[in-house]
Amino acid sequence: MTLRFYGGPETLAEDLKAETERLESVFSVTRPDSDFARLNADGRIAPAPETRDLAEKALALARETDGALNIALYPLVKEWGFTTGQYQIPEPDRIRELLPLTDWHRITLSDSSLAIDPGMALDPGSLAKGYTADVLTARLKEAGVTCALLDLGGNIQAIGTRPDGTPWQVGIRDPEGEGHLGILSAADTAVVTSGGYERYFTGPDGQVYWHILDPLTGAPARSGLLSVTVVGPAGWRADGLSTALFVMGADKALTHWRETGGYELVLVTEDHEVIVTEGLADRFTLSEPDTYTLKVWKHD
Ligand code: AMP
Ligand code: MG
Repeated sequence: MTLRFYGGPETLAEDLKAETERLESVFSVTRPDSDFARLNADGRIAPAPETRDLAEKALALARETDGALNIALYPLVKEWGFTTGQYQIPEPDRIRELLPLTDWHRITLSDSSLAIDPGMALDPGSLAKGYTADVLTARLKEAGVTCALLDLGGNIQAIGTRPDGTPWQVGIRDPEGEGHLGILSAADTAVVTSGGYERYFTGPDGQVYWHILDPLTGAPARSGLLSVTVVGPAGWRADGLSTALFVMGADKALTHWRETGGYELVLVTEDHEVIVTEGLADRFTLSEPDTYTLKVWKHD
């Protein structure tokens, strides 16, 4: 995690670090005393305000994306070994057994309680970093900072512009290479990428299995996309949507973008197309034109 900002009080860096650690201790499923770890162990908790808020946002996105974003997939994420790095390809029977335990409709949220059915487990990893970036952004603005660039492991949040007034330049990773395939000019926005390249393993069958799962099959989502970058005002939403649209694939992503709006996209397809939505056409520069073809999506 790298936080770059200009101005603000002396203690701000320490305050932001402490706030990030506090949120991690509330959200992280792998910390035994976090809200989500306790929920997964006990089935019911009195959630911290942030947990409640995050769960509410995750459920709203689940409804909006028809379950493509599903924080209840954790039993399957664990089974594939993406939590521990002890990767394995589960037997089809095992996947069939676990799928009914991933029904997000069975998450019950009220003012004072968050509850799940026995056998279920939640993992907010698909939007927690974006949410954290939003909290840090609010803190920075309260402290009077007008120029900042936050990088929470691939979740970028640009606050204002660079001190000289020009936009921040954000590299979009080449999902098949080491460097970036393009550069995005960004000011006052979140830029969040989901991609198979972030965490994956190669099976004994020689196939690549990555960490973003299709909730319908319980297996890695193969929608024809290699990465999805969402550019939009709210970090949590950009983060959740990047995961969901990766699952949904290019056609459904286009429909969602046209019907919902409020964000822009960079999609990288397995066919080496880089698709950007209209609003980014002037803000995106392809740096790998020999490998990738640029295409622009319009609203109609
Ligand atoms: P992200 O890097 O934001 O795309 O989030 C991916 C992480 O969210 C994975 O490492 C899993 O822990 C979890 N996850 C995988 N598939 C999904 C999904 N379809 N919906 C919600 N969370 C998921
Ligand atoms: Mg995400």
